Amino acid sequence: MELVRTFADARSFYRGLVALVPTMGFFHEGHISLMRSARLAADTVVVSHFINPLQFNDPSDLERYPHDLERDMGMAEEAGADVLFAPPRGEMFPREPVTRVQVTGLTERMEGVTRPGHFTGVATVVTKLFAGLQPHTAYFGRKDGQQLAVLRRMTMDLSFPVTIVAHPTVREPDGLALSSRNIFLGVEDRPSALELSRGLMAAATAAEAGERDGRRLEDLVLQSLVSAQVEYVELVSQETLERLDQLDRLALLAVAARVGETRLIDNVAFDLVGGEVVADRGVRLDRTSVLYR
Ligand code: AMP
Repeated sequence: MELVRTFADARSFYRGLVALVPTMGFFHEGHISLMRSARLAADTVVVSHFINPLQFNDPSDLERYPHDLERDMGMAEEAGADVLFAPPRGEMFPREPVTRVQVTGLTERMEGVTRPGHFTGVATVVTKLFAGLQPHTAYFGRKDGQQLAVLRRMTMDLSFPVTIVAHPTVREPDGLALSSRNIFLGVEDRPSALELSRGLMAAATAAEAGERDGRRLEDLVLQSLVSAQVEYVELVSQETLERLDQLDRLALLAVAARVGETRLIDNVAFDLVGGEVVADRGVRLDRTSVLYR
């Protein structure tokens, strides 16, 4: 695996079909599974490793975001990455950027309410990665369901010749969705953190058993949020993110809640397989994440 600092260096190692896995580093099995999927499908796997300052609306969140390139290099290499692109700030922003990519509508609800400007930061930097790294495909986690919808729409609207590939959410054995921010959760926070996935799993079971009422599915999640402080629970269209009264198309049941100082998001996606609603509950690890080792 090559560690590179510039877009041009990254491209110099390409051959064949190029898959990009954009990340902010501090890898866990969620990132690793994206890299492994990319490895199976592409000739060259490039992983970007950049803590994007534009997507942090809270400066203290940016300041404490975990960073360990040395640790991440070993993990990316083992997952089969060919190129780890870890640009210094000056490569990403040679001058203070005055250009932004703004996706309207989809970004104005859910995460967009608590994190104004967040998705513009994400869309702007992913645009730069697409332009500078010129991948054929790009891999994103379903864990960030709204981000995935926003980036799919951006890719279509701007005619980027990049195929977006979505990957299921990777979870701890107890159901907690992996996130680099989970390292900030104390053992005492764990029961509250688990309320999110537990509620989502109950709603997934209900939907597969025939429940189609949006409010009732949302209530199943709300009922499980006893000690986590709920921000939103919404059943939305996977594509437009509009709220759904009825589960009658591809949908996302998404939740955000605070546990102590840590903000957690999670979701289950409802897909249609042969006309049946099938919940994507993600995949569970059979042992505790590398985040705690
Ligand atoms: P991040 O480094 O948090 O920006 O995440 C980089 C990519 O990994 C994004 O596409 C995320 O959606 C994805 N990702 C993060 N956590 C998970 C997870 N638990 N399961 C699957 N993908 C994830």
